[in-house]
Amino acid sequence: MNEEKKRRKFLKQIAGLGVLGLAAVGTIAGGEVLLEKEKVRLRPPGAVEEHHFLALCIKCGQCLQVCPYDSILLEDIDNPAALGTAYIDPDRRGCYLCKALPCILACPSGALEHEVAEDVHKVHMGVAVVANEEACLALHNKPVPPSERDLIFEHTKVLTPAERRAKKVYNIPNPSEKRQLQIDLLKKVESYVGKPCTICADLCPYPEKEEAIGMVAKGDGFVPEIRQKCVGCGACVELCPTDVLKVIPRATWEEVYKKA
Ligand code: SF4
Ligand code: SF4
Ligand code: SF4
Repeated sequence: MNEEKKRRKFLKQIAGLGVLGLAAVGTIAGGEVLLEKEKVRLRPPGAVEEHHFLALCIKCGQCLQVCPYDSILLEDIDNPAALGTAYIDPDRRGCYLCKALPCILACPSGALEHEVAEDVHKVHMGVAVVANEEACLALHNKPVPPSERDLIFEHTKVLTPAERRAKKVYNIPNPSEKRQLQIDLLKKVESYVGKPCTICADLCPYPEKEEAIGMVAKGDGFVPEIRQKCVGCGACVELCPTDVLKVIPRATWEEVYKKA
């Protein structure tokens, strides 16, 4: 499917689900604004407004060096206008809103606002949307498939090649803090395999997660509901086994969900 078709499909999905307040009252322009935001990269926490970010990011990679989850990437030549700038691809690895937000503190240029590191509640990266509800395992009361575990093994960079091949983590003495954090996450995900799926809601890293996401009854099952405090970190996007969720970078909850 080409990019334009993908975007139209996305707009149709979220408008059809009634999550797009502006589209729901008939102003498709509201949907177009979100479509524009959907094209923009998700930036690390604390990122200033996009134009300023592009001007300020000196492509030093400091944020990436200190991120214990390996969440941050630098743009390659596929995006020449933003080459070398920091971004997060939540399909690959979301941000886990670390205590003290080390990525922000490491940024020397002002591209990531240091004030945001004082309090995780000040983070605003975007907002999650339930873009493909029909695929939700909880809606159909299906258990989490083992393939989810395998996928998270791929996302967990601190594993040895042997661990990756065997899909098994070995106990090593004095693991680094980074290895321990990523393995703890992997183990949490593994504990859901074969069981009902509430991964997105349970593993949301926002401190008061029930204010960001929760499971609500629908038909014979349950579906995720994105709530007002969602900061768009993308952890739920990464961890969802069936690609139900998406983040719209820099969008606000009100833009997406508030009915006019
Ligand atoms: S808050 Fe933590 S997980 Fe998120 S990008 Fe920064 S360092 Fe990485
Ligand atoms: S630390 Fe700041 S300036 Fe350096 S790559 Fe990250 S966002 Fe850009
Ligand atoms: S619901 Fe939670 S995990 Fe998902 S994007 Fe929002 S804050 Fe992050």
